[in-house]
Amino acid sequence: MPTFQTVRGMRDLLNEEAETLTYIISKAREIAVLYGYKEVITPVVEPFELLSAKSGEEIRQRMFIFKDLGDRNVALRPEFTASIARLATTSLKNEPKPLRLFSVGSVYRYDEPQRGRYREFWQSNFELLGSSRPEADAEIVLLTNSLMETLGLQGYAFKIGHIGVIRGILSQENVDEKTQNAILQRMDKKEYEEAFKLAPSDKCRSMLEGLLQLKSDDCFETVEKIKSYVAGYEKAKAAAENLGDVLKLIVESGCPVETVEPAFARGLEYYTGMIFEVYIPQLDIALGGGGRYDRLIEVFGGESTPAVGDAHGIDRIALAMQMQKTILATKRGKRVLVLSVNDSLKVEALKVAQMLRDAGIIVEFEVMGRKMAKALEDADKRKVDYAVIVGERELKEGAVMLRNLAKREQTIVPIKELVEKIKS
Ligand code: AMP
Repeated sequence: MPTFQTVRGMRDLLNEEAETLTYIISKAREIAVLYGYKEVITPVVEPFELLSAKSGEEIRQRMFIFKDLGDRNVALRPEFTASIARLATTSLKNEPKPLRLFSVGSVYRYDEPQRGRYREFWQSNFELLGSSRPEADAEIVLLTNSLMETLGLQGYAFKIGHIGVIRGILSQENVDEKTQNAILQRMDKKEYEEAFKLAPSDKCRSMLEGLLQLKSDDCFETVEKIKSYVAGYEKAKAAAENLGDVLKLIVESGCPVETVEPAFARGLEYYTGMIFEVYIPQLDIALGGGGRYDRLIEVFGGESTPAVGDAHGIDRIALAMQMQKTILATKRGKRVLVLSVNDSLKVEALKVAQMLRDAGIIVEFEVMGRKMAKALEDADKRKVDYAVIVGERELKEGAVMLRNLAKREQTIVPIKELVEKIKS
């Protein structure tokens, strides 16, 4: 047999990598609880049609698609929002609004593998359904801010825009939705020349080009500039006003906004309102992003439901933490190896091990049948703190031997006092 490797773009996460990933997930879950989001677990495999309906060309072309044995067209989820919209039109249709939903898991995109870009990666995903108000948009940005802060990331900042500004201009210039999507997709990739070429008139093209010039250092000033620039475009102007309202809420709540970008677009097609991404200075790829999508649920046959949500790229956050040498704030308890001096005491040793675990102590049980000295040497190498040695003589007195591996000291400790002794 040949030795096997992982499939290109897929990774094994070992040791610290796995630990960091699960740490970030646990923090995202804590944020979900604190903000009142209920966790839902949806399938990795979904109907291709569902996932492709509104995801946009970019993601559609990168999906892992296959037929299952029942000849169904299915795909691995490239994101969570489509599954959430499916739930909102089925099982959760009659849930009172607002509905706050949290999911975490792996997603799949056939991206070109490189640093921070994988074909299997993890997202934590938050969706707030049922409110069209700026405070709902603000909540999604603020919970992302809370996550970044809790994880100890330094210098992170948000980039904010509003897809309604560009769409407002395009629809008033009679650009059909398909062309709008094509333009936005290119703008998302900063291929502005290519994007503007698709504009049907000189006026439309110069309006789009002009958006790029509006940026200023002060984000509120940028919003004012957008407002006067699109004065003749009713929907675009309303979008700029809405952006100003959301911005006020998040900036005044202490959220660091780096820039407001009038020409900012995101790859997913379903956005209708405010959009954002979060970055750290050391990495030019986004750690997370999201926005408002007010029409997705009705596209899937549900009632018209305003919604806003976002996804955090857990692998990229892990990369950011590694670059910033962030310390994981985990309180790891003492580690203990439990072993018996001979086979006849195994049951007693197992009981002691279980008693320690019940008290929350991390216990490894000696399963290799090694000689005592060898087992202790190995445990010491692996930075185990204590060995608990179960021997005949001590056991008769209701006690065991407790060995501090680093200090190479051992004492006889009554089993009753063992937990306390190890924890202290
Ligand atoms: P999106 O669903 O496109 O809004 O992406 C949300 C977040 O997922 C991004 O901000 C990234 O942090 C992360 N992400 C997107 N694509 C990849 C990828 N190929 N590999 C790792 N993380 C990704």
